[in-house]
Amino acid sequence: MGKIIIMYGLPAAGKTTQARKIADKYGLYHFAMGEKLREQIASGSELGQKIKSTVDSGLLVSDELILEVLRDVKNQAVETGIVFDGFPRIVDQAILLDQMLDEVGLEVDALCLLKVSSEAVENRINDRIATENRGDDKDKSVVENRMNVFLKESVPLSEHYRTKGKFYELDGEESIEEIFDKLCKIIG
Ligand code: AMP
Repeated sequence: MGKIIIMYGLPAAGKTTQARKIADKYGLYHFAMGEKLREQIASGSELGQKIKSTVDSGLLVSDELILEVLRDVKNQAVETGIVFDGFPRIVDQAILLDQMLDEVGLEVDALCLLKVSSEAVENRINDRIATENRGDDKDKSVVENRMNVFLKESVPLSEHYRTKGKFYELDGEESIEEIFDKLCKIIG
């Protein structure tokens, strides 16, 4: 049965880089919440129009709207397993995910927190502006909002998984390969 892994951390902590590598190695579906939301915005869909101002400001989209993006999660979890990137970000979302997985007899295997300093975040976001052209990277106050969301939510979210014995913390400033090796040991 496929695994359920969550990548967590500050903006630009390396979640997507590692999630792609994990997806490749373990055959998991890479569920990148931010990318899915940006796709909705780019497509001009009704959902995209509803979430645009929130995503542009770096705040969290409401759980009600997030639910619309989670429609296929149960099937995907059963078929391949999932590496989540950017979801869950708050305890309510974690509880929602636990419930969805429970309905299909699955549970989260690991939440992996990539720890990086705020200086590293600033440097990486500056580098990313040149390659990815993300609107929410360009405005300092928006980046600050995104960091504040993490700072506010990270302790309760980490605790949610720590109490289940599913919480792992890694140094996100090591090399991509060093981090990936450690993740593989956790995932098994
Ligand atoms: P990311 O690509 O993960 O940095 O996410 C970009 C933006 O999408 C965030 O700043 C939020 O506005 C929104 N977003 C991503 N994931 C979530 C989530 N799990 N819940 C609510 N909003 C989210």
